[in-house]
Amino acid sequence: MIPNKKNKYFTLNYYEYLLKSFPKILRVRDYPNHDNGIILRHDVDLSIDLAYEFSRIEKRNSIVSTYYILMTSDLYNPFSNESKKIIKNMLEEGFEIGLHFDPTEYGDVSDSILEKHFVNEVEIFKSFFDCKVYSYSLHNPSIHGKYPNFTNYISVYGSGIFSDDCYISDSVFSFRGKDLPKFCEKSKHQLIQFVTHPAQYFSNGKVSYEKQINYIINKYYKKMDSIFQVNKVYSEQRSKYKIEIKKTNK
Ligand SMILES: [Zn+2]
Repeated sequence: MIPNKKNKYFTLNYYEYLLKSFPKILRVRDYPNHDNGIILRHDVDLSIDLAYEFSRIEKRNSIVSTYYILMTSDLYNPFSNESKKIIKNMLEEGFEIGLHFDPTEYGDVSDSILEKHFVNEVEIFKSFFDCKVYSYSLHNPSIHGKYPNFTNYISVYGSGIFSDDCYISDSVFSFRGKDLPKFCEKSKHQLIQFVTHPAQYFSNGKVSYEKQINYIINKYYKKMDSIFQVNKVYSEQRSKYKIEIKKTNK
C-alpha cells in the first residue's frame, strides 16, 4: 500500500518555481534542432480540463510545451465542444498538441497494421483541429511493453531523448530515485526529457488522486445537469434525485 505521504514536488506552486529555474524549455517538436534544454512533455491521462488549468502556469510564464491527448480515452472526449475550444486555444498559443497513442486499443496486430491505425488517428485529429501533428507518445508502454516506431512522426522514445541519462518521468508520483532539480540541471549541457502527468499536481503535495477524481466527477455532474435540463422530465425531477457513487472493490 502506498502511504498517503506528502511529496513537495506535486504542487502547482512548486511546478511554477521549478519552471522558472529551467534555463531553456523546448516542445518535443523543437528538440531535433537543439542539443541542450528541457523537453517539457505532458501526457493527458485523466482530464483535459485539469491539463488546461495546468498549462495556464506555463502560459503566464511565457512557456510552451507539448501535451499528448489520448483520442481513445474512456475518461474524456477531445472532440467535445469544450475540449475542442481548449485544444484550439492552446494550439493558437503555441503549445504543441500531439497524439497519446494506446496500442492496446487495436489488439494483437502486426506493426504495419498498428501503424495504419496510428496514421488514421493522426488524420482524424489533424482534420478535426485543423492542425499539424509532429510527434506522439505512448500510453502505458511500461505495462504493455510495446514501443512501435512510426515513420514521419517524432517519437518521444527516440534514442537521443529516452535513456536513463536523459529521461525523467513523474509516473505514479515517483521519479524512480532521481533527484528532479539536480537531474534537470544537466539540461544546460544536454537534452533532458521531463514528463509530467498534469492531474497529479492538483493533489497539493499529497500522493493521492482523491482530489482530482472528485474534481472530475463534480465537473462531469455539473455539465450533465446543465445540458440535460432541456429535458422536461429531468428538469422537473432533478432536485429530488439522489445521486449515488458506488465504489467497486476490485
Ligand atoms: Zn498515458
